[in-house]
Amino acid sequence: MTAGMYAARHGLRTGIIERMMGGASIINVEKVENFPGFSEGIMGADLAAMTQEQAMTSGAEFVMGEVSGISTSGDYRIVSADSGDLQAKTVIVAAGSTLRLLGIPGEDEFTGRGVSQCATCDGPLYSGEVVGVVGGGDSATDEALVLAQYADRVLLFHRRDELRAQRELVDRVLAEPKIEVVWSTVIEEVLGENTVSGVSTTNMATGEKGARELSGLFVYVGLAPNGNIVDGLLETDGGDHIPVNISMETALPGVYAVGDIRQHSSSQLVSAAGDGATAAIAAFRYISGRSWD
Ligand code: NAP
Repeated sequence: MTAGMYAARHGLRTGIIERMMGGASIINVEKVENFPGFSEGIMGADLAAMTQEQAMTSGAEFVMGEVSGISTSGDYRIVSADSGDLQAKTVIVAAGSTLRLLGIPGEDEFTGRGVSQCATCDGPLYSGEVVGVVGGGDSATDEALVLAQYADRVLLFHRRDELRAQRELVDRVLAEPKIEVVWSTVIEEVLGENTVSGVSTTNMATGEKGARELSGLFVYVGLAPNGNIVDGLLETDGGDHIPVNISMETALPGVYAVGDIRQHSSSQLVSAAGDGATAAIAAFRYISGRSWD
C-alpha cells in the first residue's frame, strides 16, 4: 500500500490489487509496537485501514482480485487476476508471505477446531483455559503474550533451548507468570476427538516422549513467501524469495519486488513500507526515463 501511495503521488495511474483486505496479515496483529511514530503502539487493523485510506486519498485505486500470474507483452506487464487482466508498464510485487504450518498429524484435521494461526481472533475463546503456542521467534512470543491476556496458562513449545525472538519479547515472555516455555520440545501430533484436547511431544535433548493437555494450539513457525505469483516470469532463490537490487528491481525491467517476498527482507513492517517507497520511485524513474542522478 505504501508503494501504491508513492506511485500515485508521483502522478502514476496506480492500481493496488488485493485478494482480501488492505493490510493482509497485519490486520490480525493485536498491537504493532515498533512502527515509527506510534510510541504507544497501534492495532494492526487500524494501521492497515489508515494506510489504505492514505493510499486511496493519494489517488491509488483498489482492485479486489486474486492474482494468478504475471506475464509480459512487449513493453507491458500483464497481471492476470480473477477480476480480469491488468496491463501496466511496471508492476511492484508485494505479495507477502503465509504463515507456515508444522505438517504433523491432527494439524489439518483440527484447524478451526482448536488449531489456529490468529491469536487476536481466537484468543478470547480460550478464557480460563490452557493453550499451546509453537515456535521461538517474534511471532510465537508476540502471540503468546496476546494469549496470556485470555488463557489461564500458555505453554510455549520451542524446539531449542533458546528463543530466537527479539530481546524485548523474550524478556516479557520469561517474566509473564502465565507463560511456561516448554524447552527443546517438538510437537508430534495434535490430539482430540471433536476438538483439540492435547498434543504428544518429544524432548529433543533426551528423546523422551510425552503429552500435554490443552484446548487450543497456535502455530507460529515462520513465514513462507508467496513466491509462486511470479512462476514462469522470474527465478526465485531456494527459499522462494525474489532476488532484487537496492532499488527493488528484479531481473526483469519494470518489475519490482518488495517486503517479505524479496530476497534478504528483514520481514518488518517498516522495512516493507520502505521497500514500497523505493520501488515506486524506481518505477516512476523507469516510466519517465529519469535517471537516479
Ligand atoms: P521465524 O523468525 O522464522 O521463527 C520461526 C520459529 O519457529 C523459530 O524459532 C523456529 O525454530 C521455529 N520452527 C520452525 N519450524 C519449526 C518446526 N517444524 N517445529 C518447531 N518449531 C519450528 O518466524 P516468525 O517468528 O514468524 O517471524 C518472521 C519474521 O517476521 C521475522 O523477521 C520477525 O522479526 C518478523 N516479525 C516481527 C514481529 C515484531 O517485530 N513484533 C512480530 C512477528 C514477526 P528455530 O529457532 O530452531 O529455527
